[in-house]
Amino acid sequence: MARRRVDHLLIGGGLAAANCARWLREEGAEGPVLLVGREPDPPYNRPPLTKGYLQGKESREDALFRPDEWWGEQDIELMTRTSVMKLDPRERVATLSTKDEIEFGTALVATGANVRRLRLDGCDLDGIHYMRALANSDAIKAAAQAGERAVVIGGSYIGTEVSASLTAAHGVSCSMVMQEDVTLEPFYGKEVGGYFHGVLAEHGVEIHGGDEVERFEGSDGKVRRVITKGGLELDCDFVVVGVGVMPDVTLARSAGLELGDAGGVKCSAELESSVPGVFAAGDICEYDSPVHGRPMRIEHWDVAFNQGKTAALNMLGRGVEHDVIPYFFSDLADWTSMEYVGPGSGDVVVRGSIEEGEFCAFYVDEGRVTAALSVGRSGDLEHASRFISSRAEVDRGALADLGTDLASL
Ligand SMILES: Cc1cc2nc3c(=O)[nH]c(=O)nc-3n(C[C@H](O)[C@H](O)[C@H](O)COP(=O)(O)OP(=O)(O)OC[C@H]3O[C@@H](n4cnc5c(N)ncnc54)[C@H](O)[C@@H]3O)c2cc1C
Repeated sequence: MARRRVDHLLIGGGLAAANCARWLREEGAEGPVLLVGREPDPPYNRPPLTKGYLQGKESREDALFRPDEWWGEQDIELMTRTSVMKLDPRERVATLSTKDEIEFGTALVATGANVRRLRLDGCDLDGIHYMRALANSDAIKAAAQAGERAVVIGGSYIGTEVSASLTAAHGVSCSMVMQEDVTLEPFYGKEVGGYFHGVLAEHGVEIHGGDEVERFEGSDGKVRRVITKGGLELDCDFVVVGVGVMPDVTLARSAGLELGDAGGVKCSAELESSVPGVFAAGDICEYDSPVHGRPMRIEHWDVAFNQGKTAALNMLGRGVEHDVIPYFFSDLADWTSMEYVGPGSGDVVVRGSIEEGEFCAFYVDEGRVTAALSVGRSGDLEHASRFISSRAEVDRGALADLGTDLASL
């Protein structure tokens, strides 16, 4: 067992930790930086796993956060296939699965999220896949090349993107089963979610809303059929489940870091946890958002990316608040794509035409814009971000009127 010291210990080999490492160096950190992640791959971007990588258009190298040689060039020590087993944040010591003990000056906890698993009859059959890591996307791609019919469970962004990619790139017949009536409805409402629902249906995805899986049936140990509570019997060659994630706070909890109401690591606006010098970022970070005026925990690529930067600055003592408005993007094959700033809720005010697939939906609560979703109107999001951060009242008629220059509001 070796004991050694680093200036900055970054726990979790995902995007938040990787971008934190990058910004530590860009902002002048000179001492040892160690990034410890339990996956076999160096840090990579997850969005391609349901999109270009699954479709076979992007390679593993395309998905990497940085090429392999970059870590050495930056003098950042990268330990893959290694877990932090124990964290003593007050003594500032971590114990790794290699039994090494690492003393640190500051630490980032960025352990991400784990998929929610379905515990139903037949759930252990082969051919039931989840989607989080490169290996999951590889396994689903292999199943798509060997099979013809898939059941996709869940109508959120994993379910919708996977269905689109399997249909468009692999010619797989997809049936989706979801609790909500309309895809993406819990995030964007029926009207806007209905647009994406329509696009999927138009391209042949069979969507079963208002239903849920009761059990899986199989033969020879392999899944062959999905039985729903609504009485459907859907034959399939494989299944993909996308029913949400839970922040992985196993290490943070055992380390005694305070957790928030949304189940993440409770952090200040500077992303510092309840123990000074220990920060959190990405899917596990529940921070006091200066933009929203309340605690937030958000599972978006852009949030993990930007929080990694904010954490790095604060690990170097800069004292900056994380005041970036969260941004999200999603593609359904090359059929359509969307961008979103928020999160927020309220009545939907549409600028443009949902039917024609070119619109910006503003979410307006008590006269104020809280979020906006664009399909083909990216420019409107800049104005939406301004409305969100200013919290000023905006006239609904003017938002909807294509003749109004949003810059004038
Ligand atoms: C398939 C997929 C597609 C997505 N598409 C989009 C998209 O289109 N747009 C968008 O905005 N967002 C998307 N997201 C969400 C976005 O990718 C995540 O929000 C982001 O990756 C979170 O980064 P993170 O660093 O917080 O966590 P993660 O990427 O989960 O990384 C955390 C890492 O920490 C490791 N770890 C955990 N515990 C330990 C420990 N004790 N010791 C060492 N390592 C540990 C984990 O194994 C994991 O590798 C997608 C997510 C997935 C899964």
